[in-house]
Amino acid sequence: MEKRSRVAYIAPTIEYVELCEMIPRLSLRTPIVEALISAMGLYQHLTVERVREALVEELEAFHSKDYLNALNDPPADLEELEDYGLVDDCAPFSGMLKYALLTAGGALHAARAVASGTTLRAIWWGGGRHHAKWSSASGFCYVNDAVIACNHLSTNLGRVLYIDLDAHHGDGVEEAFITTDEVMTVSFHAFSRGFFPGTGGFPAEEGKAGYRSQPPQCRSVSCVPKVYQTSVPTRRGYALNMPLLPNTGDEVFVPLIGKATEQVKRAYNPKAVVLVAGPDCLSGDPLGELRVSVQGLTRAVRRILDWELPTVLLGGGGYSQANTARALASITAAAASVEIPDEVPENPFFEIYGPDFTFNHYVRETQRAKMEDTHLKRLDGILSKTVTHLLQDRSSSSS
Ligand SMILES: [Zn+2]
Repeated sequence: MEKRSRVAYIAPTIEYVELCEMIPRLSLRTPIVEALISAMGLYQHLTVERVREALVEELEAFHSKDYLNALNDPPADLEELEDYGLVDDCAPFSGMLKYALLTAGGALHAARAVASGTTLRAIWWGGGRHHAKWSSASGFCYVNDAVIACNHLSTNLGRVLYIDLDAHHGDGVEEAFITTDEVMTVSFHAFSRGFFPGTGGFPAEEGKAGYRSQPPQCRSVSCVPKVYQTSVPTRRGYALNMPLLPNTGDEVFVPLIGKATEQVKRAYNPKAVVLVAGPDCLSGDPLGELRVSVQGLTRAVRRILDWELPTVLLGGGGYSQANTARALASITAAAASVEIPDEVPENPFFEIYGPDFTFNHYVRETQRAKMEDTHLKRLDGILSKTVTHLLQDRSSSSS
């Protein structure tokens, strides 16, 4: 196989696995995913490289110095911890900064691999922590490695299309790039009353969620980023949100992603793609609601891979351990153009894949789901408006 056609796979280290154990919702995810990928013999089709820490200065490309200091040395005061989002589902733990440096290091490593032209695709399943903000943690995300990867690709290759298939709105990434047209964010996610993070609805609904209504209330921050400076115009046309109803299922999810991403790609003309696979969109996920199958998610990702653009693949959320591993292994195989078997091979976590031990045991359940026509029409409307705006912007900038 030609060198460029091999997929770069950024693999975790023991230290990274141990640090992930400090985050309850990520417990055992990495070893389960790696065990399945190894048992399927996929490593031999990949260029495997171990994750390395990013430098603190590389995280400063997005995160505030104060926030990074808080990761290194969490304040004792509860109010200060709340300012940094280091409470509840982002509780502080020993080694937080190291975890952030490794998570961002994996995404940077993947971005460098595709930006240098040595490979077309690079995978870092530890990444995709899309909720983390400039100066706060959010939704199990302590560092926004996706923003850092997009930054690197945009600097080195040009326009980046960020596509987020996670069941939750990619709010941190959208916010990071809302003032620029150099990175376009497209997020497909569940949107319903009380569903985290409560943003990413149709434009008329965003105000109701109080989206970006005020800057972060952080007493110790040294500066406020562009996004919160009222004089800086937002580039709303470069953030497309596709809010989906609960139980969307493959029948709507797969064609919608194919159509929307294809149209945006043609109008926006990106030079690179950052894709968050987000297997919490799968059926059976305790925190997702979209009821997509492993095959459906893989088909959706494959359509984007078929563009043959330099692409970084990141993991995102996924809280059913068996289905997350099934999906990430299946997408790894698709990226490397390898067929996957119907049956899950023997591996150290084999028992969690029961009772059927296959890759497709819950397809039937997902095929029943449907989405209302009125909602689909609203999605179509927002898509065509966005595409029209992109084309107008392109023709006015080239004239
Ligand atoms: Zn999620």
